[in-house]
Amino acid sequence: MIFHAFLIKYAEIAIKGKNRYLFEDALVKQIRTALSRVEGEFQVTKEQGRVYVFCPERYDFQEACEALQKVFGIVGICPVVIYEDQGFEQMAQDVCAYMKERYPDYEGTFKVYTRRAKKSYPMTSMEVSAELGGRILDLFPRASVDVHQPSMTLSVEIREKIYVYSETLPGPGGMPVGTNGKAMLLLSGGIDSPVAGYMIAKRGVKIEAVYFHAPPYTSERAKQKVVDLAKLVARYSGPIRLYVVNFTDIQLYIYDQCPHEELTIIMRRYMMRIAEHFAQKDNCLGLITGESIGQVASQTMQSLAATNEVCTIPVYRPVIGFDKQEIVEIARKIDTFETSILPYEDCCTIFVAKHPVTKPNLNVIHRSEGKLAEKIDELVEEAIRTAEIIEAE
Ligand code: ATP
Ligand code: MG
Repeated sequence: MIFHAFLIKYAEIAIKGKNRYLFEDALVKQIRTALSRVEGEFQVTKEQGRVYVFCPERYDFQEACEALQKVFGIVGICPVVIYEDQGFEQMAQDVCAYMKERYPDYEGTFKVYTRRAKKSYPMTSMEVSAELGGRILDLFPRASVDVHQPSMTLSVEIREKIYVYSETLPGPGGMPVGTNGKAMLLLSGGIDSPVAGYMIAKRGVKIEAVYFHAPPYTSERAKQKVVDLAKLVARYSGPIRLYVVNFTDIQLYIYDQCPHEELTIIMRRYMMRIAEHFAQKDNCLGLITGESIGQVASQTMQSLAATNEVCTIPVYRPVIGFDKQEIVEIARKIDTFETSILPYEDCCTIFVAKHPVTKPNLNVIHRSEGKLAEKIDELVEEAIRTAEIIEAE
């Protein structure tokens, strides 16, 4: 069956009042971005409180559905067949042909739901539904009408043309990216941070990202893996600006000056500071990390407090209460898992101590950081100045 359009369903509850058009405009924009990856010219329109995607003559149905299923804010996607309006008799024949092709031997319950956007149509919605229901019963003697809990609802929309649909593919839910500001994701090559970025983007937040690498201790392949992860998350979030920060000199300097068991915590504090710098510059309203309480030494409550201390904007940690397995499930669902587990070195693990502190004391950490006074500001400035910007899309 060839579908000419998709009717996009979104949760209306979130968009009462004057925010509605912001929500719809952002949704339309994200749908356009998602479909720009699919071959063919798709037209996305917003009319009378509905969003439609009109398809080109030739296109890959599966690919289009998969792209739409990544657009936050969509709760359902209905593939629509469009017929010319040539009077009721023709409409009845078209609807019967649709049913025959889609459900050759239908024997379940159904109802016909008619919506008349073209008010000049000579029959009321009720009349059209009743008449079409009768025709369908004639065609499928084993089928029956159930207006309360039908197994299938055949929707007919009377507009300039006649729109027919009966199926709804699930959307990803959430809110369209762009309706809730922007945040900066600390994106490593691991499993957790891509999931964290996905979860915040799902709430309508546009994301940017920052990755710290340590060449030559970390390889070009490790960096490419992070770029690839950013691209995978971008399928949901839209394009991501990724800052790649050379962290080597900072890391070596901390390694030289501070107790090794505090290295990870102090490093994480400098990552947060630099991430916040880019966040402020680009008007991001928060940072995002993939931290989860107790997962590793740097994620105990004490360690989290120590990294948190240096931030002046909120830090969002959407997987904070998740077990690894729960995070892995999401990573698999959004297709980042296989990339995340590629075994390349990570800048955090290279200089890592055998016994890192698990309960860092802030006074002790402050004292250790004091030993960095001579060169650290200069090194941080250098790292910021030389950051590479990659547009991941
Ligand atoms: P992930 O799977 O996201 O790497 P992880 O379990 O390996 O997480 P850590 O290495 O302790 O945990 O990192 C905790 C968080 O700090 C990450 O989720 C990420 O947000 C951030 N982070 C860690 N390393 C980097 C890095 N090299 N560049 C950017 N952010 C990082
Ligand atoms: Mg990691």
